[in-house]
Amino acid sequence: MNSPSSVTIIDGKAAAARVLNDVRDAVSALKEYDLHPALAVVLVGHDPASQVYVRNKVLRAEETGIRSVEHKLTVDTTEAELLDLIAGLNADPAINGILVQLPLPAHIDENRVLQAIDPLKDVDGFHSENVGGLSQGRDVLTPCTPSGCMHLLHDTLGDLNGKHAVVVGRSNIVGKPMAALLLQANCTVTVLHSRSVNARELCRQADIVVAAVGRPRMLDASWLKPGSVVIDVGINRIDEGGKTRLVGDVDFDSALSVVSAITPVPGGVGPMTIALLMKNTVSATQLQQPALSTHSTRAEAPCLSIS
Ligand code: NDP
Repeated sequence: MNSPSSVTIIDGKAAAARVLNDVRDAVSALKEYDLHPALAVVLVGHDPASQVYVRNKVLRAEETGIRSVEHKLTVDTTEAELLDLIAGLNADPAINGILVQLPLPAHIDENRVLQAIDPLKDVDGFHSENVGGLSQGRDVLTPCTPSGCMHLLHDTLGDLNGKHAVVVGRSNIVGKPMAALLLQANCTVTVLHSRSVNARELCRQADIVVAAVGRPRMLDASWLKPGSVVIDVGINRIDEGGKTRLVGDVDFDSALSVVSAITPVPGGVGPMTIALLMKNTVSATQLQQPALSTHSTRAEAPCLSIS
């Protein structure tokens, strides 16, 4: 049993602000090379949540000096029209990153659209070239949410070598890339999913737990090892006392009695996702400049590294 006051509440807003500061510096450095990072954001239809996400992404881009170009398409846009737009953005040297806001309307094949994006401009890291590159440990664009979780883990624990990490959830967007990133950081990784047997017991062995399930407060203290570090990716909207509120996949109050550090919801992983999108736009700009990446790794390119 912990005293809740000894638990570190991992501040995702502060961590995201640090990443965005680094991005701002890197964008300024790129501009000295006459490189002007630009992000194209494509929204099909009028889904209110997607509109909010797109607005936030555009705002963050502007704050960091990244040029953003919005393409708002009507809900009856055909797949062929969307693919034409992406082909144009792929060919446009003034565009460095392409983000297609998901979900797409049902008549459009999401996978075909994601595979049409130039892997070097794929700032969401969903193209199979980048997914494969991640699993091979190559220096590719990686999905924003798991990359944001890795930042928070390194900030909290430093070196992750040899830690036992349990990822709860195996989606292509969060769980699988999360597991690949943890493996790359030399963790021993267990991935749990809806068919896992003894999930709670397996989870209770973990030094690090990343919860990405989409079930409100599913993991309480009985799932967690004393002293573990918990990253809660879940964003669940629930009704409580006649009010709507956001909660994670972890029962935060219960977890406080055992963990050493935990992310809150909201204010944990959420802010990191957009910050990492901006970081990926800078990385994409660098990857597209062979002169900046041939003689040294891109992280070592002059003046342009961001942590
Ligand atoms: P998905 O619905 O795509 O995946 C959920 C995963 O959880 C599946 O792999 C599923 O297993 C697994 N699962 C479901 N029930 C159980 C269970 N009882 N025990 C163990 N595993 C289970 O969700 P996402 O990965 O897209 O998102 C997960 C959560 O993260 C959501 O709340 C989402 O809103 C949030 N999210 C937050 C982001 C952020 O920026 N903070 C970004 C993206 C997502 P199976 O594969 O067997 O079905």
